[in-house]
Amino acid sequence: MNPNHFSILSLPQSMLHNLNNLGYETMTPVQAQSLPPILQNEDVIAQAKTGSGKTAAFGIGLLTKLDVKKNKLQSLVLCPTRELADQVVKEIRRLARFTPNIKIMTLCGGMSYRKQVESMRHEPHVIVGTPGRILKHLDKNSLSLEALDTLVIDEAHRMLDMGFIEEINKVIYYAPANRQTLLFSATFPDEIMELSATIQEDAINIQTIDDELPNPITEYFYEVDPDAKLSTLIKLFAHHRPENVIVFCKAKLRSQEIAEDLNRKSIEALAIHGNLEQYERTDVLMQFANRSCSVLIATDVAARGLDIKELEMVINYDMPHDQSTYTHRIGRTGRAGKEGIAITLYSGYEADEYRNDIRLFEAVDSLSVNKRFTFKSPNVTLVIEGGKKNKVRPGDILGALTGDAGIAGKYVGKIDIYDHQSYVAIERSMIDEAYSQLKKGKIKGRKFSVWILK
Ligand code: AMP
Repeated sequence: MNPNHFSILSLPQSMLHNLNNLGYETMTPVQAQSLPPILQNEDVIAQAKTGSGKTAAFGIGLLTKLDVKKNKLQSLVLCPTRELADQVVKEIRRLARFTPNIKIMTLCGGMSYRKQVESMRHEPHVIVGTPGRILKHLDKNSLSLEALDTLVIDEAHRMLDMGFIEEINKVIYYAPANRQTLLFSATFPDEIMELSATIQEDAINIQTIDDELPNPITEYFYEVDPDAKLSTLIKLFAHHRPENVIVFCKAKLRSQEIAEDLNRKSIEALAIHGNLEQYERTDVLMQFANRSCSVLIATDVAARGLDIKELEMVINYDMPHDQSTYTHRIGRTGRAGKEGIAITLYSGYEADEYRNDIRLFEAVDSLSVNKRFTFKSPNVTLVIEGGKKNKVRPGDILGALTGDAGIAGKYVGKIDIYDHQSYVAIERSMIDEAYSQLKKGKIKGRKFSVWILK
């Protein structure tokens, strides 16, 4: 029998039957490694990305333990966003199809708190939600974790990005000590390991082989005269209209020049290179990551350590020194199963060693271009003169925007909190409204200065 078949696990027949019905035949790598310890009630910290089957890994674990006859909250799953919480609930519901009378609920911010309290009168068995809202319910005694068996922290790396670690720690404070804690994260920076050390006990560390599937990247090569590089770059933007793109060039000053040349042509671009101060580097990366800037011009050195989750396109404005640099540069796109595009500009014989079947050598003339093309990022960043030292949290900013200011949550993007300042991405069409409302209003009962980052 296939050693990775679900039937090697001691799962109830009804669960095996359901998995079979769902078409889950064999376990994915993260399931095969994490399910045995999860079913043994061990704490597990696992490296897993979206698409790895991690939701089923913890979902099967928590459902197998659940006692439906006990009308108490037994499992809590913390997710960084409402969208993710909705996906997790869907998957758990699918897995629970053969568990009658099970009550699963979502508790996220941006929804009516009172309605949530109302629907918790019949206590759910499983809650999936975002840390801020869960904490609010705990603080106000509308939720109790006294019977909690399983706590799951999903996408811990994004929780970290969004500044939720403090909230998670506060939630844990309410949870009983003899619980099982499962933590899933795509990356393992020190902060995640510290979190694991404080909230888990003898956690079993699961690392599946990364990049099992090669990144789906289409590689184009265009021969251009060095004088025509800038105009070709603009044609490439106009033709492909990427949501975000990193343009690699060979020297620090050159990256700055390219960004300035593009700005003069109504294309917003920022440069990142070794001459920037740390805070300038942070500003640039933050704006690129929160989609307030779509074009980043980088040198190889400056791009080191840069981790952008969904990068649509990489352009080699200057040929890389060698093939390994090429592979490294283009490997930043095509992540998480999403298709990426890698474009290389070359002249003369520069690209000879790159010629093979999978690469497409095209002519610049083949690009279809609208002459009046301008390129603007989808978001604009608001800066708030208050940060961690003022005890400002992402939920406070989101609350101020979606509450009194009346901005729908879907217009609010990534929120980054630093010591003395916070940055929030707002969809471009709503930026003036968000700015004037925040300027008039208060955050956590206090007034903060606000401005638009240009
Ligand atoms: P996730 O990484 O949890 O977002 O899961 C990715 C997708 O894989 C979901 O649509 C699941 O329904 C599906 N899935 C999870 N486990 C399996 C499995 N063992 N076999 C086939 N599909 C699966």
